[in-house]
Amino acid sequence: MVETVMKRDIRKLKLEELKTFFVEHGDKAFRAQQVYEWLWQKSVKDFDQMTNLSLPTREMLKAHFVINHIHVDNMQRSTDGTIKNAVKLHDGLIVESVLIPTEKRITACVSSQVGCSLACKFCATARLKRMRNLTPDEIYDQVVAIKEQSELIFGRPLTNIVFMGMGEPLLNYANVMSAIEKITSQKGLNMASRRLTVSTVGLAKMIIKMADDGVKFNLAVSLHAALNETRSSIMPINDTNSLEELAEALKYWYQKTKSKVTYEYVVWKDINDTREHAQALLKFCKHVPCKVNLIEYNPIDDGEFQQADQHVLDMYMDLLESNGITTRIRKSRGKDIDAACGQLANKS
Ligand code: SAH
Repeated sequence: MVETVMKRDIRKLKLEELKTFFVEHGDKAFRAQQVYEWLWQKSVKDFDQMTNLSLPTREMLKAHFVINHIHVDNMQRSTDGTIKNAVKLHDGLIVESVLIPTEKRITACVSSQVGCSLACKFCATARLKRMRNLTPDEIYDQVVAIKEQSELIFGRPLTNIVFMGMGEPLLNYANVMSAIEKITSQKGLNMASRRLTVSTVGLAKMIIKMADDGVKFNLAVSLHAALNETRSSIMPINDTNSLEELAEALKYWYQKTKSKVTYEYVVWKDINDTREHAQALLKFCKHVPCKVNLIEYNPIDDGEFQQADQHVLDMYMDLLESNGITTRIRKSRGKDIDAACGQLANKS
């Protein structure tokens, strides 16, 4: 009788499980270490690339396992050099990730979920609804794809990673942490944690959890308004996760990590363009050491939201800077290919 073996995705196994597998199949436990390095350090997509394993060992692995990696389905290039990848997952769903080149850095902007459940009114991803969480390997693979493009197309290494693509990373906490472990550990891509930024809508409970878990990456919070009424009107999450709770969580975060927080903030016409709003932001900035990125709004369609005029941005800038808060205006990248913040919506 022919025995059929259900092939598992080898990257779902922990190192210890891989060791057990080899021992159970009459091989040495240290093979697991070798395979683990091929998978997570050298990012191979095929068992035949594991050249320090004997042919019979490779065949045995092939008989039991598959490597379900992502495929870059479509790569678009912006006139400013930004690259947007439409990434096909093994079940056919698509997410997007972006490579952003600057003079000094190459940044990968990666997705953490297919779609998003948060319903921020100004964000295109919100219209996709949340389909599912990405697995650790799907997040890791987006980074690897951009790392390869960075080396191949720009001849430079990937320097930074931001979790600012589709989805809310803290609603897929375990998988995001597991991917970050593979990206930062010496047995993985060995990238420095301080080069990583996780951006969140500001879930207080999860910020406290991250602080307790002793994470070493940077935290960015999409603030956009520091008055509850305004924030709730554009970000429904604020109804159950108020600015006061957020502030308490951030104080706890800073106490534990001593790591500055970055606030992302778009200034819109008729929404948060008054001096009262700017003053509320300044007051919020006093909770913990922080810096502010005033990000350019990327219109997503019907014109309900419009970027405020330059003089309003200057007013924000002057008020914050004169009170010692480092503030930067962040220009959009990749707008022409819908690769900028909040534009990721699988249009193509
Ligand atoms: N869920 C996470 C990460 C994804 S959004 C978060 O909320 O932080 C990445 C950043 O793009 C966030 O700061 C978000 O508020 C911002 N953003 C969303 N839509 C935008 C748009 N249309 N124009 C500019 N920034 C936008």
